[in-house]
Amino acid sequence: MKIGFIGLGIMGRPMAKNLLKAGYSLVVYDIFAPSGDLVALGAEAAASNKDVAARSDVIITMLPNSPHVREAVLGENGVLDGAKAGTILVDMSSIAPAASQEICAAAKAKGVVMLDAPVSGGEPKAIDGTLAIMVGGDEAAFATVKPILEKMGSSVVRVGDIGAGNVTKLANQIVVALNIAAVSEAFVLATKAGVNPQAVFDAIKGGLAGSTVMNAKVPMILDGNFKPGFRIELHIKDLQNALDTAHDLHVPVPLTAGIMEIMQALKIDEMGACDHSAVVRHYEKLAKVEVRK
Ligand code: NAD
Repeated sequence: MKIGFIGLGIMGRPMAKNLLKAGYSLVVYDIFAPSGDLVALGAEAAASNKDVAARSDVIITMLPNSPHVREAVLGENGVLDGAKAGTILVDMSSIAPAASQEICAAAKAKGVVMLDAPVSGGEPKAIDGTLAIMVGGDEAAFATVKPILEKMGSSVVRVGDIGAGNVTKLANQIVVALNIAAVSEAFVLATKAGVNPQAVFDAIKGGLAGSTVMNAKVPMILDGNFKPGFRIELHIKDLQNALDTAHDLHVPVPLTAGIMEIMQALKIDEMGACDHSAVVRHYEKLAKVEVRK
């Protein structure tokens, strides 16, 4: 079985490397990023998204957002121009659920089955192959590609029909963003009150307030290290998709709207390329205090 891999960015490149390490034969393409390191590991380089599709049985896309996936799959020289009937397309990008459904319908018209399979875990987990992968779409196609996804993730769960993977990812992104905001608010308060933030972390991380987000982000905040990780700009993209989806479904999401405005303010302050833990900088500015060791 030949796997096509499109999108060799922060996430796609290490994910493709894990498939090569597992012994899969890969054909790769990115509109900008070079593929030389993957070719050195045994991958074939393709000339376009169409070329990837023509040479693959399963195609994985790992692209920034809905317009990029539309362009790569439906656009000129795109995946659907080259794919044979029976091909499985697994879009692992985090995009709007409605876009997944729309692209899936266009793929179906050409005999291509599409799954949406966004991931959580970031670059470190992409590198060590322990991503959490949430999948929407056809059950038989899921069964076929599950062993492939298990080479990139330690948790691979089918959550429903097409679009359900990205709905789950939006839920994930709301929880992560608001958890960072809560941690930021609490640690700025404690610091301004004169309590050592490291001591606060040590005291509460094992209790009910503790979380994966707290464990990952508080050490970064205490070091003043806002190197991404997950960029504020990408989180803004996910929150916009969450707001659009919620409003289409008539679901009010006031806290999501609030953290969106905080992230927008940070972007205007030229922190869009910082890790999303830089949300604490917004609270620090308002309270005139820094949460550091
Ligand atoms: P990235 O910007 O580093 O990589 C995306 C790649 O897609 C780029 O190399 C770009 O050149 C390529 N590309 C864009 N349009 C293309 C096209 N039409 N054809 C071929 N290639 C094209 O992004 P990333 O950080 O790897 O993120 C990819 C997806 O994974 C996003 O949806 C993101 O939200 C999600 N994600 C990222 C992280 C993270 O920590 N970075 C974590 C979880 C999920």
